[in-house]
Amino acid sequence: MKALHEMGVAELAQAIADKQTSSAEATQHLLARAKQHQALGAYLSFNEEASLAQARVADERLAAGERTPLLGVPIAHKDIFVTRDFPSTAGSKMLEGYQSPFDATVVTKLAQAGAVSLGKLNCDEFAMGGSNQNSAYGPAHNPWDTTRVPGGSSGGTAVAVAARLLPAATGTDTGGSIRQPASFCGVTGIKPTYGRCSRYGMVAFASSLDQAGAMARSAADCATLLTAMAGPDIDRDSTSLDHPAEDYSRLLGQPREGATAAQPLKGLRIGLPREFFGEGVAADVLAPVHAALAEVEKLGATLVDVSLPRTELAIPVYYIIAPAEASSNLSRFDGVKFGHRAARYDDLLDMYKKSRSEGFGPEVKRRIMIGTYVLSPGYYDAYYLKAQQIRRLIAQDFQQAFTQCDLIAGPAAPTVAWAIGEKADDPVANYLADIFTLPGSLAGLPGMSVPAGFGGSGENRGLPVGLQLMGNYLKEAELLQAAHAFQQATDWHTKTPAGF
Ligand code: GLN
Repeated sequence: MKALHEMGVAELAQAIADKQTSSAEATQHLLARAKQHQALGAYLSFNEEASLAQARVADERLAAGERTPLLGVPIAHKDIFVTRDFPSTAGSKMLEGYQSPFDATVVTKLAQAGAVSLGKLNCDEFAMGGSNQNSAYGPAHNPWDTTRVPGGSSGGTAVAVAARLLPAATGTDTGGSIRQPASFCGVTGIKPTYGRCSRYGMVAFASSLDQAGAMARSAADCATLLTAMAGPDIDRDSTSLDHPAEDYSRLLGQPREGATAAQPLKGLRIGLPREFFGEGVAADVLAPVHAALAEVEKLGATLVDVSLPRTELAIPVYYIIAPAEASSNLSRFDGVKFGHRAARYDDLLDMYKKSRSEGFGPEVKRRIMIGTYVLSPGYYDAYYLKAQQIRRLIAQDFQQAFTQCDLIAGPAAPTVAWAIGEKADDPVANYLADIFTLPGSLAGLPGMSVPAGFGGSGENRGLPVGLQLMGNYLKEAELLQAAHAFQQATDWHTKTPAGF
């Protein structure tokens, strides 16, 4: 038998169901492995007793004859989901040691499906960032080169999956925080349609964009997680989609209608937005992405030229709307209800000021200031309203493109992972790196990043590159079907960083 950490979700669930191991044993093994690799900075907290108690419950359910695709499988949650069993910090000093009285819906749903939680994973503070360098608890390290960032904001999730610390984990994606770290760490990640997973118990960053999703080693394993996570939660999240839960694995391994086993993607039209292949994309990224697209063509898909003409505008639009919503959402951290309170202060106003000055990191403060500015009288029309109008046009551009194609493909990020420390003092350089994930987020569309190869030159040799796939609203199953067909024909997703 393979070592337990070498198994993906499906394999591990099978080994547990076949009694080759137990959930308790797998949990113990993966907790020990996580601690052995603490230097990666993937985890922010553990609660061994709680994890083992969950594993024992799973083993009892198994003994009682229950079988589900996640029963007994250890996973972990990005520390943006609140949990009763672990502290919930959102990567911020503001919430250091915070104990939530309830679990996020996504956490509850995964537990009901039988998954065991190993702990909480590192992330940029309040999910603001793309490198995990904005975490108040230190950076996470990319296992392919530990001097590089893993991407972010779901950096801990990507590191843990890539370094085989666990088979799968949750993340959230507001403007790319699942797709970009998945790309940087060579793992598979999916962000569903906005509203598909409940935001209840997800510490809010930008509510009209925030969406939960999953990372794993394969599209098939992502489908298993997403099936358990998604579904309506109208009573608790007013933006939750009123659309029944579905089985995201249902199209895996199925040829498309009219296609064949040899060419399972026959008839699939994949749009390549011109704007995603122009200048500014590193050659290290373009070469593997083109090679992956040639592979997809061999599987029967046709590649068509499309245009998303407002791609560049996604950056200013997102960096107005997201901070605007953040400035409002983060007003709740005032030192009164929960979170950090300054030890010494003169009066109420001073208490607010000191608590917020001490609790928030520099990027969060920057966004609160930008957000407050663009929402203020006199600037609202010029910035916020204008951004909302352009957001609508960006969404319409996608609908225009989807008249010519079924899915859209391109790079997930313009470069491979950069060095820890690089861009740390340059917010705009960080924002520019989000160019290919922001448009889909603003439109609320589902998207994935699928391992597609490695950077080939100089210092970037051997660093992972992700192929981004986007679909129209609620087309997650079709996205996963295409990604799975690609993974059946290639082995990029099976590559493991040396030493892990
Ligand atoms: N990198 C983007 C930002 O800094 C996206 C973050 C996210 O998706 N949470 O806002």
